[in-house]
Amino acid sequence: MVKLMSKCIVIGAGPGGMSAAIYLKRAGIDVILIEKMVPGGEMLKTNKIENYLGFDSIDGGELALRMSSQVKDLGIEIIRDDITDISYDNTFIVTGLKNKYQADYVIIATGRVPRKLGLDMEEALLNRGISYCATCDGAFYKGKEVAIVGGGDSALTEALYLSDICLKVYVLVRKDLKASDILQNRVKNKDNIVILKNVSVSQFISSDSLTGVLLNDGRKLDVNGLFIAIGGTPDISFLKNLNVDTINGYIKTDDKMRTNIKGLYAVGDVRYKDFYQIITAASDGAIAALSIREDD
Ligand SMILES: Cc1cc2nc3c(=O)[nH]c(=O)nc-3n(C[C@H](O)[C@H](O)[C@H](O)COP(=O)(O)OP(=O)(O)OC[C@H]3O[C@@H](n4cnc5c(N)ncnc54)[C@H](O)[C@@H]3O)c2cc1C
Repeated sequence: MVKLMSKCIVIGAGPGGMSAAIYLKRAGIDVILIEKMVPGGEMLKTNKIENYLGFDSIDGGELALRMSSQVKDLGIEIIRDDITDISYDNTFIVTGLKNKYQADYVIIATGRVPRKLGLDMEEALLNRGISYCATCDGAFYKGKEVAIVGGGDSALTEALYLSDICLKVYVLVRKDLKASDILQNRVKNKDNIVILKNVSVSQFISSDSLTGVLLNDGRKLDVNGLFIAIGGTPDISFLKNLNVDTINGYIKTDDKMRTNIKGLYAVGDVRYKDFYQIITAASDGAIAALSIREDD
């Protein structure tokens, strides 16, 4: 394994990580940005972003591309690797599936992974009817009936996207909708979106793939696709060797993005905070980079 060295390593190339890398580079701090998939993070899951400063409306993929171009144009290399462990021995040793890396400072910007319903067959039916991303998989359900679980902004964004592709879209909400009024109004104006409140999925019905779901009130919905949009939780198993303070599974930081471990920072959806948005992730990234400049 090659060991690559840098003053700072940013793990995760979503808006939080990319913003941090840009601020670090511009502050003259040597930085490596490591991403296990492609740059963009959760932005790649949405086709329409209408609340990011400077754009009335922009496709998530387009915004991701603009951010990653800015990163690359500054000469910051985005290394593709999946980080599995971080340890500390005078410096941080960051281990990925491909390489080992060494740095004085590490910024965790790994976001969160979709929360599962936790029902039997959920894993087995993944990509055979069950999905956690409408913009990624919606096209497979063209002209079919589908359902979405969840009542927040993400769920309604996905419902609107699917309503242009699918015959009918059921939105299954455990209690009431929590999404913004703008999204709720748009959904109300769509004839093929049906909101079912006070329901939950109790069982998947399938043969080789999903053919329907059974609801807690006994109703059966014949749907070919079920999109689960009930938020997420961070996967920070790679921090098992550092005693990082967390709150409800999210990394605890101060307002300068410092964790309880000296030299380790966390930004964006992976950290415990009130609002999980692109602009707040980007803001966190900028703050972490400027804090490192101050702390160094
Ligand atoms: C459907 C949907 C619609 C949304 N719409 C909006 C919207 O309209 N406006 C808005 O402001 N926000 C929206 N959001 C929320 C927004 O996308 C997130 O708050 C934001 O992307 C968080 O940024 P982040 O950088 O913290 O994490 P992420 O964007 O999740 O990026 C984390 C990155 O880290 C990488 N990573 C994870 N683990 C590792 C590892 N071990 N090694 C290497 N890399 C790793 C991931 O592959 C990923 O690229 C939406 C979210 C969803 C799901």
